[in-house]
Amino acid sequence: GHILYFGNDEQKQKYLPKLASGEWIGAWGLTEANTGSDAGNMQCTATKDGDGWVLNGTKNWITHGISGNVAVVLARTGEPRAKSNVTAFIVEKGTPGFTAGKKENKLGMRASETAELVFDNCRISDAQRMGEVGDGFRQAMKVLDGGRISIAALSLGIAKGAYEASLKYSKERQQFDQPISNFQAIAFKLADMATKIEVSEMLIYQAADKKNRHEPMTKESAMAKYYASEVAVQCATEAVQIFGGYGYTKDFPVEKYYRDSKLCTIGEGTSEIQKLVISREVLK
Ligand SMILES: Cc1cc2nc3c(=O)[nH]c(=O)nc-3n(C[C@H](O)[C@H](O)[C@H](O)COP(=O)(O)OP(=O)(O)OC[C@H]3O[C@@H](n4cnc5c(N)ncnc54)[C@H](O)[C@@H]3O)c2cc1C
Repeated sequence: GHILYFGNDEQKQKYLPKLASGEWIGAWGLTEANTGSDAGNMQCTATKDGDGWVLNGTKNWITHGISGNVAVVLARTGEPRAKSNVTAFIVEKGTPGFTAGKKENKLGMRASETAELVFDNCRISDAQRMGEVGDGFRQAMKVLDGGRISIAALSLGIAKGAYEASLKYSKERQQFDQPISNFQAIAFKLADMATKIEVSEMLIYQAADKKNRHEPMTKESAMAKYYASEVAVQCATEAVQIFGGYGYTKDFPVEKYYRDSKLCTIGEGTSEIQKLVISREVLK
């Protein structure tokens, strides 16, 4: 997304076909060990050196940090806490001084690796810079606006998976000589799940529609991400409850939904940060 929006023609031609076809996997590095929600306070630096740049520092929690063929990296090019002090760079795997570090041992989303990116006097040419020097943080916020719709859609998928599995199981599982869906306590859980899933879907379509029309959608994407991710956690939690003891085992899919869903309220900005974004927008 970052290269699509902010790369120049040469960068787009070089990277987008490979990334779009899946031949290459991309990574995006904003977060660091000590700067997550407060990403603007990053410590990873890019220093001008002749006609290129030297990167030093680490990025943490980076999806596809090991398997990624290319990474977009946000690095500080100005003084800490100064305005416009971040710039975006494209760094290819194999660039001397760029290595992948520790892989996180996660609760869920275990099929996609999350790892550290380490930059130790990593030299890159100025042609790898995206956009203007100092424009990186603004670019990152734009990328996150779109990324949040993707996380909302991911959340919706998990919520639907949990709901559909619960619906089926509740009609099949017999207790007290009847399907457990006959018990209002179970049926009402399904009603809550179905309703919240539809609301999530509408919020996601609203944000995606605005994005497709190139209209501002910071508030809408944050609302969709916040709501859909919390609903995914609620639906996955209720699904485990509906499955009873079986839900607590790896024989059924709902324990995976339960573990995977929690990432959605954290990644691409926590629910608290979404509320910060939404409240700033409504108080404008
Ligand atoms: C599996 C996974 C994949 C990820 N992939 C990527 C990736 O590809 N690229 C990338 O750059 N990052 C990635 N991240 C990082 C992710 O975006 C951060 O984890 C997230 O932004 C939260 O930052 P943090 O973990 O440092 O938590 P912190 O910022 O330390 O937050 C801790 C708690 O404090 C709360 N908090 C913080 N500030 C405030 C505030 N101002 N008001 C109220 N509450 C606040 C938070 O909501 C949270 O509850 C990934 C994370 C995970 C877990």
